[in-house]
Amino acid sequence: GSLVQPVADADERAAESALRPTSLAEFEGQPRVSDQLGLVLEAARHRGTVADHVLLSGPPGLGKTTLAMIIAGEMGAPLRISSGPAITHAGDLAAILSGLTEGEVFFLDEIHRMSRPAEEMLYLAMEDFRVDVVVGKGPGATAIPLEIPRFTLVGATTRAGLLPGPLRDRFGFTAQLDFYDTAALEHIVHRSAELIEARLDAAGAAEIARRSRGTPRIANRLLRRVRDYAQVRADGRITPALARAALELYEVDELGLDRLDRAVLRAMCTRFGGGPVGLSTLAISVGEERETVEEVAEPFLVRQGFLMRTPRGRVATPAAWRHLGLAVPGGASG
Ligand code: ATP
Repeated sequence: GSLVQPVADADERAAESALRPTSLAEFEGQPRVSDQLGLVLEAARHRGTVADHVLLSGPPGLGKTTLAMIIAGEMGAPLRISSGPAITHAGDLAAILSGLTEGEVFFLDEIHRMSRPAEEMLYLAMEDFRVDVVVGKGPGATAIPLEIPRFTLVGATTRAGLLPGPLRDRFGFTAQLDFYDTAALEHIVHRSAELIEARLDAAGAAEIARRSRGTPRIANRLLRRVRDYAQVRADGRITPALARAALELYEVDELGLDRLDRAVLRAMCTRFGGGPVGLSTLAISVGEERETVEEVAEPFLVRQGFLMRTPRGRVATPAAWRHLGLAVPGGASG
């Protein structure tokens, strides 16, 4: 797969576990979230109660799982992890909830992908620490209320807007994670380099940070690949020149675009005069599925201001021509 996509597979998640910050103080780059969350947790500790339920929203790889672990750590509580798609029946959820210990943190990833009955069970659990277990079938079925331990739900979703209002309203605190700035990513790369014992100078860290699309996961991934290159092709030290050479080999350019991203821009600019061009046509011209272009390539190109989605089709911006080193049509310069 591409080196700059934000989603991780199981192997990568395993490699990541050694790199996770374990306290709010170590969790860099989201100062507002850290401050607010720190206050929520401290207040709960002060009162000797479980912390309010926390909703974390934001794109993959920005630290939602990490924050859930930090919340458990800061509360001195155990952590239970599950995800929306894993809970197909309300009974699955009832089993998890009734098995929690008092004060436990329950991390529910992709909470927007839970089944409807499970979602309704969760409302009651969040509010009253109670579930209704249905016994029997048909007209004779009865709901038996069951008390469950008080817990803190940490829900994660890519977009808070995907959640039904009633669920959203039951969280006491909502944090929106934003893309990280380059300075924060440089810190993260340095910290990770120390943990994996990679030798890296400040400018080398900057080269990696700039290409990481504002995403710590991608920064850590690029660091691992650059380290491979440094060990195999050089003496192990990551200098800026070495980082650039390695990332060129992996086809990640100086703004973090990969081969597909550039192919899309190039097709837009050189074959379709910058657009507007339909998504299907664009996909065929780069030899990819429509969905791949739309979901994998476009979001970052739009975010970077290289491409616009308009009702008439996709349109390349002058920045796209400039990034490819092409003259902007119509003579606009700068
Ligand atoms: P997903 O939704 O795909 O599970 P996520 O938002 O839960 O992604 P994490 O798994 O928490 O992301 O983080 C991905 C990687 O980035 C981890 O290796 C983690 O250590 C690192 N990371 C995330 N945020 C930070 C941070 N603020 N400081 C240092 N490292 C971070």
